[in-house]
Amino acid sequence: DYELRIGIFGAGGVGKSTITIKFTHNIFIEEYDPTIEDEYIKEIELNDKKILLKVLDTAYPEEFCDPFPRWVEFSQVFVLVYSIIDKYSFGEILNYHYKRIKNILNVQDYPKILIGNKSDLFTKREVKTKKGKELAKQLNCKYIETSAKTGENLNQLFYEASLLAIQE
Ligand code: GDP
Ligand code: MG
Repeated sequence: DYELRIGIFGAGGVGKSTITIKFTHNIFIEEYDPTIEDEYIKEIELNDKKILLKVLDTAYPEEFCDPFPRWVEFSQVFVLVYSIIDKYSFGEILNYHYKRIKNILNVQDYPKILIGNKSDLFTKREVKTKKGKELAKQLNCKYIETSAKTGENLNQLFYEASLLAIQE
C-alpha cells in the first residue's frame, strides 16, 4: 500500500522516455515525442511489499510556463540521466539538473541516482565510465550504466531508486 514517486531528469535525447517506457511497459521506443511529459505507473514488489511506483518522465512542452519546480515537487527520488555518447548531456547534469533541483529543494543533499544511458552504444562512447563514477562520488550517489534498448540494469535502476524513496 505504498506509493513511491520517482522523477527522471536529464537533457533532451538521453533516453528518459525510452527508459521509462521500457521499464513500465517493456517496449523499446525508437521515436518518441520529445515534448510529451507523462506519469507512468508500475506495480513492483519490494521486501515482500506491493508498491505502486509512479515514474515521472520529464520533458519540456511547448509552452511558456516552466514545469521544472512542479517536477521537483512531485519527486521523492531524482534519477539524473545522461547519455554515454553525448558529452554535453554529461555536463548538463552538474551545470543544470543537479543544481536546479538543489536550489528548488533548498537542501544540502537529496536522494538521487546518476545514470549513464545507452551503454549498448559503447563504440560511440564519449564519456568514460570513470567520469560517471567520479561525478557520482562528487554528488554522493550511486552510478549505474543502463541501456533502454537491451534493458540492461533497468531493473536495478528502479530497484535502487525505490529503496531510496522508501526511506523518504
Ligand atoms: P528523452 O528526450 O530523454 O526522453 O530521449 P528519448 O527517450 O526520446 O530517446 C532519444 C533517442 O535515443 C530515441 O531514438 C531512442 O530510441 C534512443 N535511445 C534511448 N535510450 C537508448 C539506449 O539505451 N540505447 C540506444 N541504442 N538508443 C536509445
Ligand atoms: Mg522524452
